[in-house]
Amino acid sequence: MVEKILAINAGSSSLKFKLYLMPDEQVMIHGMVDRIGHSDAVFTYQTEDGAKHDTTESVKDHTEATELVIKALNESGVIKDKSEIVGIGHRVSHGGNYYTQSVEINDDVAKRISELSVLSPLHNPANLLGIEAFEKLLPEAREVAVFDTSFHSTMPPKAYTYALPYKYIEKYHIRRYGFHGQSHQYIYSVVADRFGEQEADKLISCHLGNGCSICAIKDGKSVNTSMGFTPLAGLVMGTRSGDIDPEILPFLEEKEHLDSEDIRSMLNHESGVLGISGVSNDIRDVLKAEADGNKRAKLALDVYAHQIQQFIGAYTTDLGGLKVLAFTAGVGEHSAPIRARVCQGLEYLGIKIDEAKNQANDIEIQASDSKVKVVVIPTDEELIIARETAKVIG
Ligand code: ADP
Repeated sequence: MVEKILAINAGSSSLKFKLYLMPDEQVMIHGMVDRIGHSDAVFTYQTEDGAKHDTTESVKDHTEATELVIKALNESGVIKDKSEIVGIGHRVSHGGNYYTQSVEINDDVAKRISELSVLSPLHNPANLLGIEAFEKLLPEAREVAVFDTSFHSTMPPKAYTYALPYKYIEKYHIRRYGFHGQSHQYIYSVVADRFGEQEADKLISCHLGNGCSICAIKDGKSVNTSMGFTPLAGLVMGTRSGDIDPEILPFLEEKEHLDSEDIRSMLNHESGVLGISGVSNDIRDVLKAEADGNKRAKLALDVYAHQIQQFIGAYTTDLGGLKVLAFTAGVGEHSAPIRARVCQGLEYLGIKIDEAKNQANDIEIQASDSKVKVVVIPTDEELIIARETAKVIG
């Protein structure tokens, strides 16, 4: 049956939406409300025919943002009545140990998502704001939570267990959970469609955006991923540190008289590429500074790319080989110099790119004699949210 499904990605001050006609997966309208909570919030959307809308207005909270979205759906003619929206899929950051799959939201589920805010304090509360706003305005529609963590629930214990006292692991459910699951799942689906499941059975997916994570996918299942208990772990990111020696933290606490909130803020907002370079969290700015001779910018990019290479080497071990290496998200999709830097030195794994194809942002950028296929795929987390929602509401 043809149905309209809304995919929602709510952050603390933004709300992105895409309306799909399922099962055709046709996008009817997509857009976002940015700077929620400000008098100069920006509302942008685009319909199928390419018509764009862009306004700046006061948006007090997520309920007002949701009202704007529904008004846009009506005014653009993609719906005549809000009852046409049968399902709303919400991106939810953390599903903890409870949710290994997407789930229809009821009061108990909402309560659990709220409880799990301790594990994802930046994201789960924001995701809930989106859920509550739509519940209020579209009470008839069925709401589904699609978790970042679910795709990684197939990791084996040896990949998700931290070597801490077991009493804490049990008491606080401390383990590697992994994030960006919708993105890695989407990348697998595109690679499997393009090359077949046989060729997609040893895949490494590199999601390089503001947040960065890398995932080893064997036979369509996540077997290891770089983010951990929280989205701070793993790769060097724009402003997040990724993995560091844990002993550095008490050392800095003592030397600089910092408390745990200071440390958390430093690791999340002042570290990563910004921290090393002192220039920016945006790779474009740092590449430019490097070209202008800035040595710390060069160091930041060297560390960033080296860390990705380290994980590719490690995950090739998890997979017992490598057939496809995929790049996605802002940096992965658009930055040919970063892709080249990552691949340079990985010839021993059978990775060799064709620089002209890389520069052209082709889908396949491997050289003709490369053993591993190297692909550039624009991610589409919302499509996974819509597919999962359609599946859950059946
Ligand atoms: P998010 O992780 O928030 O979803 P994106 O995946 O859109 O974000 O990634 C945003 C990041 O992508 C920006 O911070 C910027 O560093 C990077 N980026 C976008 N375009 C380019 C480009 N052409 N070259 C290098 N980096 C880029």
